[in-house]
Amino acid sequence: MPGHIIDGKAIAAAVRADVRRDVDAWTAAGNRPPYLAVVLVGDDPASAAYVRGKTVAAAEAGIRSDTIIYDDVSEDRLLEIVHQLNEDDAVDGILVQLPLPDHVNESRVIHAMDPNKDVDGFHPQNVGRLSIGESGFVSATPAGIMEMLRRSEIQTEGRHAVVIGRSNIVGRPVSSLLLRRGIDATVTTCHSRTRNLPEISRQADILIAAIGRAEFVTADMVKDGAVVIDVGINRVEDNTRERGYRLVGDVAFESVRKHSSAITPVPGGVGPMTIAMLLKNTLAAARGDYRL
Ligand code: NAD
Repeated sequence: MPGHIIDGKAIAAAVRADVRRDVDAWTAAGNRPPYLAVVLVGDDPASAAYVRGKTVAAAEAGIRSDTIIYDDVSEDRLLEIVHQLNEDDAVDGILVQLPLPDHVNESRVIHAMDPNKDVDGFHPQNVGRLSIGESGFVSATPAGIMEMLRRSEIQTEGRHAVVIGRSNIVGRPVSSLLLRRGIDATVTTCHSRTRNLPEISRQADILIAAIGRAEFVTADMVKDGAVVIDVGINRVEDNTRERGYRLVGDVAFESVRKHSSAITPVPGGVGPMTIAMLLKNTLAAARGDYRL
C-alpha cells in the first residue's frame, strides 16, 4: 500500500485555529493582542510573498502586525531599527525576513535582536537553549515538522531519524528537536560531505530531507515503511504551467511514496506548517512564555 499522505494544510489549519482560540483567551483576560513587527528589505518577490502570507495569517489569528519595508538600508540603520523594536514594549515579536542584501551582515542583525522577541528562533541564545534541551523560541520550519509528527501520531521514541541537511534553519534544529527528551529518537545528520548516503538513509525509520535539490531522494534510498518528511521547495521548469515552472520537493514523491508508510507532499506538506508555528511563537512572545 502506498504511504499515507500527511496533509500539512489541514494540520496547519488546526494549529492556526488553536492559536486563534488562545489569542482570544489572552485578550479576553484583558491583555492587548499580540503584536508582530516584520522588517522586509529589498525587492525579492519571494520574500515579499512570504511576508504577505505571514501578515495575512497573523490577522486571521487575531495577531496585529506591521511590515517596515525598505528598498535598501544600511546595516547601521537596520541595527538601529532592531534596537528600537527591542525597546518598544508594544512589540512582542520581531521578524527580519531573510535573506538580507549582501552588504548587511545577517549574523550581526540576528545577534542584535532581543532573544525574548526572536520569534524566528535564530538568536544564538535560543539556538543554545534548543541544543541543551531548554525551552525557547524554535525556528518555525523545524518546529512545524515536529508538530506534524506529533499530530500525525508518529512514534519517535527509539526510532532512527536520518536528517539530510545541516543548515541553521532546518537540518540542525530539527536534529536537536528529535533528540529531545520525550521525543527520544536516535539521530543521524547527513550533509554534502557524507559518504554512502543511500546506505545511511535506508536505515531511517523517519527520513527528513532538507537539501534544496529537486527529487534528490529516490526510492532506492528509502526503507520500506519509513516516514518521509520532505522540506525542500524547488522550482522545475514546466511549460504546461502558465508560470513556466512547478514546485517539487527534495523527494521523488510518487516512487518514494510506494515504499513509505507516510509522506509529506510538496506543496501542501511542511510549507504551511511554517507560518502556523510563527503565529504560535508570536503568541508565546506576548505571553512571555520563554522569558529569562
Ligand atoms: P541550505 O542550502 O542552507 O542547506 C542544504 C543542506 O543540504 C546543506 O547542509 C548541505 O550540506 C546539504 N546537501 C546539499 N547537497 C547535498 C548532497 N548531495 N547530499 C547530502 N546533503 C546535501 O538549505 P535549507 O535552508 O536548509 O533549505 C533546504 C530546502 O528546504 C530548500 O529547498 C528550501 O527551499 C526548503 N525550505 C523549506 C521551508 C518550508 O517552509 N517548507 C523552510 C526552509 C527551507
